[in-house]
Amino acid sequence: MSEGNPRILIVDDREENRYVLGRVLRQAGYHCSEIASGIDALNAAQTLPDLMILDVRLPDMSGYEVCQQIKRDERTAQISILQISASFVSSEDRARALEAGADGYLTHPIDRKVLVATVRALLRLRAAESVARKSAEQWQATFDALSEGLALVDVEGRLVRWNGAFAEICGPDFAGAPGKDAGTMLDQVLGSSEALRHRGPERYQAEYSIEQRTVQLSASQVDPENADAGKVLVLSDITDRKLAEYALRTAEKIAATGKLAHAIAHEINNPLEALTNLLYLAESSKSLEMIHDLLSHASSEVDRIARITKQTLSFQRDTQHPLALDVGELVAEVVAVYQKSATARRVRVVCHRRPTTVIRGFPGQLSQVFSNLVRNAAEAAPNGSEVVVRVRSVCRHGREGTRVTIHDRGKGIPLEVRKKLFDPFFTTKELKGSGLGLWVSKNLIMKHDGTIRFRTATTMGASGTTFEVFLPVDGVASRGLNEDD
Ligand code: ADP
Ligand code: MG
Repeated sequence: MSEGNPRILIVDDREENRYVLGRVLRQAGYHCSEIASGIDALNAAQTLPDLMILDVRLPDMSGYEVCQQIKRDERTAQISILQISASFVSSEDRARALEAGADGYLTHPIDRKVLVATVRALLRLRAAESVARKSAEQWQATFDALSEGLALVDVEGRLVRWNGAFAEICGPDFAGAPGKDAGTMLDQVLGSSEALRHRGPERYQAEYSIEQRTVQLSASQVDPENADAGKVLVLSDITDRKLAEYALRTAEKIAATGKLAHAIAHEINNPLEALTNLLYLAESSKSLEMIHDLLSHASSEVDRIARITKQTLSFQRDTQHPLALDVGELVAEVVAVYQKSATARRVRVVCHRRPTTVIRGFPGQLSQVFSNLVRNAAEAAPNGSEVVVRVRSVCRHGREGTRVTIHDRGKGIPLEVRKKLFDPFFTTKELKGSGLGLWVSKNLIMKHDGTIRFRTATTMGASGTTFEVFLPVDGVASRGLNEDD
């Protein structure tokens, strides 16, 4: 639609008619040009006026034909056409004009008010059409410009439309045609049409491979309330993201290994230096008592090195396949072993277990976790007190699993210590601790897709700490764990 005043072409071979129509319309504020023949009308149509008032009887060709040609040409089809004829035309003539594509029809004598009102109505209609067309064009352009593939599937499971990205991501196997069965198409391209069989308001999402690439397909209902209103398929190529994630994971693993190796070397170096000094002193010492003292010191340094290597070695070693295991039984064994050890005499560890569902996991790693936690609790517990271990099945955030809590009535964990608790080599036990227990435990629990957390209170008389481990039934499977993880 032209800017400012709408432009109207008046096509009539009789000058007096053109004059009357032009005068009325100019007075109504329109910009009018006058033309006397069909051929000139067709030429002038190329300048895209907003409306053409077209007499049915022209000297060189009929008004119907002019109308038909204008409407047939895509470029000029949007021009509104108001056909005008003499008073005594039949209703067939009228019908013919409208079938030729005219938007309105008036007969002489024309009332000026009716003329202006009709012109206004036609221009309004044209403006509305142009807005609708523009937004449809914008929508189509947006649809095509998306880098994600989109396809619309109707109630019967037939393809309605799709954008360029959809066809591109599908690759050479995509042979889409409107009305084609979308299930067959998905089977050909992805090897599965599961997405279309999925029922329910929540979105279906899955990853597939097309040749060397990984794609993600999601399917949602067009109308979330109504399962029978067709589906929208969204297809994205996530190969780059997958590669980046893999690279990041590998880089993280390498960085973590490097950091651990560095930290271990550093931690072992301290007692080694102490050992060297102590042995040197022992060698050059004359007093047997002194030598005895130095050697017992040396022995505790060796113990510390042993503790560090034991924790890290078992952490690295346990990489056999996960097994089906009863966590309650495993915890009971850990407690029994701990009870037998000489260090355990001052504290009693009791285990309350309910029957639990079997989970999949690495028994060696989980034993290490629970013995770390039991030992920490026993070390924190006051003489003669009890450490209480509880095992039961729970469902957390919709996931079945086993919960183990280890409770002691020690002094609790001071605020400034809490943040560093899971850091490697963080210990408050000086030479007696490795500071690796919780760090290793956390890593192992994460491998099982579980969680580890604690509650602690430092209030005198009501102090204590509870560590809680949650292990989902199929955690190792959901982490996609394999031997080299
Ligand atoms: P380590 O036991 O060798 O010191 P851990 O990683 O097992 O190393 O524990 C780190 C620190 O966390 C301990 O030194 C201790 O300060 C604190 N801690 C762990 N468990 C408890 C507990 N049950 N009560 C109080 N403090 C604890
Ligand atoms: Mg410990």
